[in-house]
Amino acid sequence: MGFFSKLFGGNKPKETCPICGQPMGFFSKTELTDGAICDKCVARVQSLVGNRLIAEMSLEAVKAAIAEEEAVNAKLVQAFSGEYPNLFKAEFAHPISPKATDVGIARAKAMKDCVAVKGTVVSGAFDKGPVTVISGGKKTEAQLVETAPFTDGEDVDSTLSAHLYKGAVGAGKQAWLILSGDSGASGGCIIGAK
Ligand SMILES: [Zn+2]
Repeated sequence: MGFFSKLFGGNKPKETCPICGQPMGFFSKTELTDGAICDKCVARVQSLVGNRLIAEMSLEAVKAAIAEEEAVNAKLVQAFSGEYPNLFKAEFAHPISPKATDVGIARAKAMKDCVAVKGTVVSGAFDKGPVTVISGGKKTEAQLVETAPFTDGEDVDSTLSAHLYKGAVGAGKQAWLILSGDSGASGGCIIGAK
């Protein structure tokens, strides 16, 4: 009795996310029409379904959106990984010029007239250095000035002023890549690094 009550009586096992398998707490999940998924997966799915309300989607629909995304990513890797082991898929891009009072003088200088590109690291990892922007078959060499992890609901300006540079971002992570101004980066472009 003692043995089993220790096994089953104490802490209830936490509910796990049906997408990624991670345990999820009451405050770190979102209810779908027929189940719940963790906040990390919500952020991932939200970037795939635009303005659709995730709470109004079924688990099946969420899984389908992710499967579609993974098929697209696999194709990208197949097409480009020979040349670029590190690949990033951009969702959107917009110009930035952060103020020295927000990010410090050195970083403000480095990020002057840059473009912030939000997207997902499809393979490998991204850190400061030379990258290639691939858009509509055209390749442009650019400099990756800084990376920052993407946080849902936080814009790039507050992300950059709240965080010091944190180093490389790895595969599967949503991130901001800050590129030098002449990169030609826009939504839908692919960024590769050797
Ligand atoms: Zn999850």
